[in-house]
Formats: sequence, structure tokens, C-alpha cells
Amino acid sequence: MSLKQRAGNHDNHNNRQEERKEEIQGDCSNAPSDVSFCRYMNCRALPGNPYNPTNHEHLANVATHGLLIVPSIFGLGWMLTLADESSEFWIAVIYGAALVALFTVSTTYHTISFSGKFNTLKNILHIGDRAAIYIFVAASYTPWLVTKEMSLDLRVEALWVIWTMAILGILYQYNFHEKYKSLEVLFYLIIGVCPAMIVVFAMKESSGLHELALGGIIYIIGTMFFKLDGIVPFAHAIWHCFVIVGATIHYYAVCKYVLGVRQVALVQETIQIIHDS
Ligand SMILES: [Zn+2]
Repeated sequence: MSLKQRAGNHDNHNNRQEERKEEIQGDCSNAPSDVSFCRYMNCRALPGNPYNPTNHEHLANVATHGLLIVPSIFGLGWMLTLADESSEFWIAVIYGAALVALFTVSTTYHTISFSGKFNTLKNILHIGDRAAIYIFVAASYTPWLVTKEMSLDLRVEALWVIWTMAILGILYQYNFHEKYKSLEVLFYLIIGVCPAMIVVFAMKESSGLHELALGGIIYIIGTMFFKLDGIVPFAHAIWHCFVIVGATIHYYAVCKYVLGVRQVALVQETIQIIHDS
């Protein structure tokens, strides 16, 4: 083994020791007495500090979003095939790209985090991971606000509000990363719920509303796990799973009720013609 490799291993060992120290310094008041349980959950992080996942939790965090990268790329491609006018094309690009970015940035961050190295890159990716969530939430409501008729013509204003909130959320992450976790959850809820209210109550036709509301409710339930690291084993991976289910429902709704409207009408017309003849 070369000197350089030995030095690297030594650094790695020190990093692990530092991590272990952080674990021990965490808030263990809720820790279970069963030692085997420690594989699945560490002590809670002290205020202002990030939670240090166990190896099993790290793996679950990487796998839950990593498995969705390739399907989300195909999903973006499918959306582009459904779009048949300029506004629909941009909706497909915004929603599809946000979906791909969400899973890709999240998986990259969790992989680097698991490696225990590249601390600066890890911190940048962590902020990127949170930023991708804000962008994804704004991108989830954009298709509805752009294409659907509203009883109150607040579409442009609502789009401004949503995207401004997303940018404010990203700036907050950049400046106060991991400092006020409850405030972060509150931000997610505000940006998730407020636009939904506008869309649900002002949209003239109800097609796709049930799916939109259901996806929103799933995201809201998921945010509860966002703050339960060190209390519920695999809490972060569970939050990932809620994101996957919510995003899948919203994806289906955008494809069916926003992008695929003409295709569905065409299929219905064809069936009607066959039936009449
Ligand atoms: Zn994550």
C-alpha cells in the first residue's frame, strides 16, 4: 500500500471517528435500548446540526430516489411526445426536467453523503437537493395554472407567487441551511398548500383536480417524516417514498388532463365513429 493510500485511509478513519463522535453527541433521549436497532437509526441531531444516518439508512436514501432516475428520464420523453403545441411543450420541459433533477440531485447528494468524503461538494449538493424540491413543487402547479381556465383570472399572479416562493425558499436554504428545520418544513407546506388552494378553488373544470389534491395530501403527510430523523427509523427514505407516490400521481394527472387532452378526445372520437358505423 502506498503512502498516499495509507494517508487516505487514515483520513477516512478519522472522518468515521468524527462522525461517530457526532452521533454520540446527538440527542439520545429517545434512543431505544435494543442495540441491534442502532443499525436502522442513530440518535437525533442536536439543534442546528444535520442528522447522521446509519449505513442502512444511507443505502435506503440512495436507493429510493436512485431507482427513479431512469424512469423519470423516460417520463420526460413521454411528456414531450404528448405535447402538441408550444405551451404544452414548455410544460413538458418544466415538469419533466424538474422531475429528473429532483431524483438525480437527491441521489447524487445521498451517494456523496454515504461516502463520507467531499464535504464541500456534499454541502453544495445538500442545498441543491432542497432547492430541487422547491423547484419541483412550483413546477407541479405550473401546468394547471398555464392551461386551465380559472374563475378568477389570477393565473399570472399565482405563477409569480409560486416561483417567487420557490426562489425565496432556495435563498433561505443557501443562507440558513439546516439551522431552523421546523421553519424549513413550514416553507414546504406553504409553497405546497397555498398554490393548491388557488388551483382547486379557482379552476373552472374539475378534471384532474382529484389527482392534484391527492398528490398534494401525500406530499403533506410525507413532510411529517422529514422532521422525524432519529425518531422513526428510515424516516428520510420514507419521505422519499411519499415524494415518489405524490410525483407519480401528479405526473399521471398532467399527462392525462393537461398534455393528453387532445389524444384522449381523439381516441374517444374514434371509438364513437366505430360505434356509430
Ligand atoms: Zn433526500
